[in-house]
Amino acid sequence: KSFLELGLQSGLEKTLQANQFLTPTPIQAQAIPPVLEGRDILASAQTGSGKTAAFALPLLSQLAEEQTRPRRGAPRALILVPTRELAGQIATVLTTFGRPLRMSTAVIYGGVSKSAQISALRRGVDIAVATPGRLLDLMGGGFITLKDIQMIVLDEADRMLDMGFIPDVKRIIQELPEKRQALFFSATVPGPVAQLADQLLHDPIRISV
Ligand code: AMP
Repeated sequence: KSFLELGLQSGLEKTLQANQFLTPTPIQAQAIPPVLEGRDILASAQTGSGKTAAFALPLLSQLAEEQTRPRRGAPRALILVPTRELAGQIATVLTTFGRPLRMSTAVIYGGVSKSAQISALRRGVDIAVATPGRLLDLMGGGFITLKDIQMIVLDEADRMLDMGFIPDVKRIIQELPEKRQALFFSATVPGPVAQLADQLLHDPIRISV
């Protein structure tokens, strides 16, 4: 099936073509339809499998269904990642594919000044891509709230564990609305990661590629 046959918004078509995304990869073919149906996902997928687009495309498609103005400091989707490099890569994908849908993405990570990140949040955002520590810092300062989050993605959860971020991730999860869709990606699923998945996910579809 083509990307549009999987149910994505036609507004994504031009960008898919321009970026040479012609055929969905296996993880994309398996993940996109259930994500569009609102299901939670537990996917074990490696980098290079096309996992970024597997969550980014249906996430954008769903958010675009409901055209609201980007909200000051109150994104509708949150992507949690372990490193600033990964945050930057994912934000680039979301910005590229989100532009024709008028979706705005803010990126939040530590090790750099907060002021540009705070300004971006104040201008209004649909999606935030964040590392856990800086996100908690900005939440504590009142610069971002998770009260409007409809979709949460946890990417590279096993690396979150390796880097000691699980307590921070659990603190963030506690701030999410009860009713939200959760997508969980991890190359491997060791015990503590499985426990985190249990806490976050509701009746997930399991995908392994
Ligand atoms: P990822 O596994 O998300 O890091 O993606 C690996 C690479 O594959 C990235 O450079 C993507 O732009 C590219 N890619 C992902 N999905 C597709 C697709 N369906 N068609 C062509 N390229 C893709």
